[in-house]
Amino acid sequence: MSDVGFIGLGIMGRPMAANLIAGGHTLYLYDLAPLPQQLLDKGAVGCGSGEEVARAAQIIITMVPDTPHVEAALFGPNGVAAGLSKGKIVVDMSSISPLPTKEFARRINELGCDYLDAPVSGGEVGAKQATLTIMVGGPERAFSEVKPLFELMGKNITLVGGNGDGQTTKVANQIIVALTIHAVAEALLFADKAGADPARVRQALMGGFASSRILELHGERMIKREFQPGFRIELHQKDLNLALEGARALQMSLPCTAETQQLFNMAAANGGRAWDHSGLVRALEMMANHQIGHDDSMKQPLD
Ligand code: NAD
Repeated sequence: MSDVGFIGLGIMGRPMAANLIAGGHTLYLYDLAPLPQQLLDKGAVGCGSGEEVARAAQIIITMVPDTPHVEAALFGPNGVAAGLSKGKIVVDMSSISPLPTKEFARRINELGCDYLDAPVSGGEVGAKQATLTIMVGGPERAFSEVKPLFELMGKNITLVGGNGDGQTTKVANQIIVALTIHAVAEALLFADKAGADPARVRQALMGGFASSRILELHGERMIKREFQPGFRIELHQKDLNLALEGARALQMSLPCTAETQQLFNMAAANGGRAWDHSGLVRALEMMANHQIGHDDSMKQPLD
């Protein structure tokens, strides 16, 4: 059993840490916010800084919102880097930018430690059920050492390549999810406006090439008008920004990603920052002057 540090005990971090404790590991916790009492009650040790966590633990996991938060947790005052000694491993499981990730890894390597970027997909439900998909970048030896911990938190665990490749994979995942939500939203809105029952259209399409988890889950949310998150539009905007900033740095274009981000922006500008990302359909509905499931046959056409 290992001594494991866990920094960032929010929506995702809390259940992930709970699964590590259930697996028999001793956890050392730190968060800017008060630590969850239920984890302390299960025997986890509260620490006053990332530095204290890094002195106590062999493997230190971070699960914080965005790139600046990871930088602060690792290299800020009393951060993880100040408490590291040779041979320890830092594992960032947040979804952040791939390019700074390589730099963070280099700075941790200079201290004689390995770094893994290991973002996840599967949401709060996957974190609770320990079924997360985990996409890892970093050296093979560190991956092998941390794998038993990953197996307590997830199911589909892949070492993709070197540092940054885990975060790149997560960005690719978020591009596919966003563009599929966009496609499903356009298709269901079109069908509804044409007079077909969108629930039956969804059911019919679930058997063919157009079927997907997004059509199944997010399509249902669009039809039932269930936009409480789930995964917030503002978090998906952050992830598509990573894609678009990366594309700018690589001097390439991602035209469909850019267009879908505009729809998220439109939804956010109309009160939707905290809607589930399936709420992207509402941006299309505003443009179509038509809402799924709403009979507007009596409505006057716009001039
Ligand atoms: P959250 O906001 O619920 O939790 C983040 C925690 O980090 C908070 O408790 C915050 O106090 C803490 N924190 C921030 N800066 C810190 C610092 N410098 N030192 C110590 N603690 C700090 O966020 P979340 O939903 O748990 O998401 C975490 C990451 O996982 C994000 O990168 C997100 O994109 C990703 N993710 C989230 C989901 C989801 O469904 N929520 C799914 C997959 C991936």
